Amino acid sequence: MNYRHIYHAGNFADVVKHAALALCIDHLRLKAAPFRVVDAHAGIGRYDLAGVEAGKTLEFSDGIGRLFGVDAGPVPPAAAAALAPYLDIVRKLNAGGGLTLYPGSPEIAAQMLREDDRMIFNELHPEDRGTLAAAYAADRRAKVMGLDAWTALKALLPPPERRGLVLIDPPFEQPDEFERLAAGLAGAMRRFATGTLLLWYPVKDPAVVSAFYGAVRPLNLTKTLRAELLVRAPADISKLNGCGLFIVNPPWTLSDKLGALLPFLAERLARGAGADYRLEASV
Ligand code: SAM
Repeated sequence: MNYRHIYHAGNFADVVKHAALALCIDHLRLKAAPFRVVDAHAGIGRYDLAGVEAGKTLEFSDGIGRLFGVDAGPVPPAAAAALAPYLDIVRKLNAGGGLTLYPGSPEIAAQMLREDDRMIFNELHPEDRGTLAAAYAADRRAKVMGLDAWTALKALLPPPERRGLVLIDPPFEQPDEFERLAAGLAGAMRRFATGTLLLWYPVKDPAVVSAFYGAVRPLNLTKTLRAELLVRAPADISKLNGCGLFIVNPPWTLSDKLGALLPFLAERLARGAGADYRLEASV
C-alpha cells in the first residue's frame, strides 16, 4: 500500500467528490430520522495543506485553491449554491484565515451529521488508521475500523438505520481495481438496495471507464447518475485527465445541482484544452 491521500488532498478530484458528498449528506438531513455514513476508504480525515507532503505536490493549489480565498474569483450563483455545503466546511476549518486545512470525507461527515446519526470510517493503512482514530476518538457518533473495504461493506450493510450513504473511494493502485469495483458495488447494492452509494473513479483512459459502465449495466440499477469532470482532453492516457462519480440512488435534487456545478468546475479547474464535463442519469 503506497498510496497516501495527503499528497492529493484538495486536488480537483477531491473538489468534485467532496462537493457531491456534502450535497448528498445535506439531503439526508432533510428528514428527522437518523442515518449512517459508511466511508469504506476513509483516509485520515483532516489534511494539513501547509505540511511537507501536500507542499511536495501542491495539487491542492489547482483544486480547492482555485475556489477558496481572495484570489479565487467570482462564482455564478447556481454553482455557488451547489458548492455551499462543501465550502462552508472548508471555511470553518480555515476560520483563522488562509487555506491550511482541508476536510477529507470523514471530516465532511463529522461536520454535517447530527447527534443521533452515525459514521463508520474504514481505513486499511495502519498508520493512516491511527491518525484517523485519534482525530475522532472523542466523537461518540464515529467508529473507526481497519478492514479491507469490501469485507467491511459485507459486515456493515445494511446499516441498522436503513438510511444512509456509502462512499467507495479506492486509491486505484491495483490494475484490476475497476473490475473489483463493479463486483463490490453489486454486493453492496444487494445488501442495501435503498442506500445512496457514491463511488469515485479516475478518468485516465475513457475506454477503461466505458468498460466499467458496461460491467455495471447488467445490475439494472434504475436510479443512477454518472458525473464526470475532465480537466483536459484525455490525449495522454497515463495522466489523471479527470474523475468521475457513479451515484446510485442519488437525492432527487442532485442532478440539477451537479448540472449547475460541473460546467463551472470544468472552466475553473481546467488544466489544458478540452476540459469538459458529463452528466447522465440512469446509465
Ligand atoms: N475518502 C477519502 C477522502 O475523500 O478524504 C480519501 C481516501 S483515499 C482516495 C483512499 C484510501 O483508501 C487510502 O487512505 C488508502 O490507504 C485506503 N485503502 C487502500 N486500499 C484499501 C482497502 N482495500 N480497504 C480499505 N481502505 C483501503
